Amino acid sequence: ETLNKIIDIKGSIRVFCRVRPFLWTDKRRTPEPILSELDQVIVTSSGSRKEFGFDKIFHQEANQDDVFVDVEPILRSALDGHNVSILAYGQTGTGKTFTMDGTTVQPGIVPRALKELFQQVSSDKSFSYTFSMSMLEVYMGNLRDLLASKPALRTNETVSRCNLNIQTDPKGSVEIEGLTQVEIPDFAKARWWYTKGRRARSTSWTNVNEASSRSHCLTRIVISRRGDTPEAKPKISKLWMVDLGGSERLLKTGATGQTLDEGRAINLSLSALGDVIAALRRKKGHVPYRNSKLTQILKDSLGVGSKVLMLVHISPCQEDLEETICSLSFAKRAK
Ligand code: ADP
Ligand code: MG
Repeated sequence: ETLNKIIDIKGSIRVFCRVRPFLWTDKRRTPEPILSELDQVIVTSSGSRKEFGFDKIFHQEANQDDVFVDVEPILRSALDGHNVSILAYGQTGTGKTFTMDGTTVQPGIVPRALKELFQQVSSDKSFSYTFSMSMLEVYMGNLRDLLASKPALRTNETVSRCNLNIQTDPKGSVEIEGLTQVEIPDFAKARWWYTKGRRARSTSWTNVNEASSRSHCLTRIVISRRGDTPEAKPKISKLWMVDLGGSERLLKTGATGQTLDEGRAINLSLSALGDVIAALRRKKGHVPYRNSKLTQILKDSLGVGSKVLMLVHISPCQEDLEETICSLSFAKRAK
């Protein structure tokens, strides 16, 4: 409740940072380059020291519960009728999927949010709610429906399912033509569909990591709220939970051909997202939604009246420092 108030006062965009813990595969060096404090990350490299402020920082030892505590209020906003976007940003390997999906024993934001929505509405006497879910992947400017009965592969004969049209109705609400939308009556069914969507995403790629670094994965919950009088119009809101493609700059890693094109597409759409958020932060002037499919899809859930939560993920390692500084700078623009 209090955090919700703070969100209203400070504007509708919040930027959090999550620092991945060291993995056994990491080469650890001392002194470590990244120091996270209460509300800032301090980076020291070759003698210089840079500070980056955030609305909230999750240190290496923060667990999934700690993160969800600060995500929960925004779910309440979605139930209250606000469009909401929760976005996981960061270099590949920094924990975006861990934060959004998690594991069976450490579930992430999406499964927790699904559970929480059903829990919250079960005790709400004044409204009745229905939820529906869609999942899609954005890859090189194409949209792929992840809940379609036969998941489309990226081949020519299935181009139609890969190229869903984005429409905006006169009220400014964004619709994706032909996107599968399934009713989710309870948590068990919601989780079933979510698992199906996640699987559809990874089976079309040679490996899971490839899928997550070259494409964005979006989960949308449409919430329909009805009052107890028949004449009360239902209120519709959208909750987007997005595992963004890896933010690493492939040009520097010596990528070529297809990989380079994919990397460019991701980089372009991430910078388009950054531009939109920066424009919204300034609260005036033109907001350049049209520059990418990603920002077109999220248009009605990024702007006025909606709530945005950007979770910027960073690595604690020395060898990732350059990318880490890029991610922190991206966050700084959004703030
Ligand atoms: P990304 O989706 O950004 O590429 P992943 O979520 O796949 O990154 O994370 C990379 C690896 O680090 C995975 O093995 C994941 O389990 C692990 N990992 C990331 N964040 C955490 C965390 N907060 N706690 C424990 N393990 C983590
Ligand atoms: Mg991932």
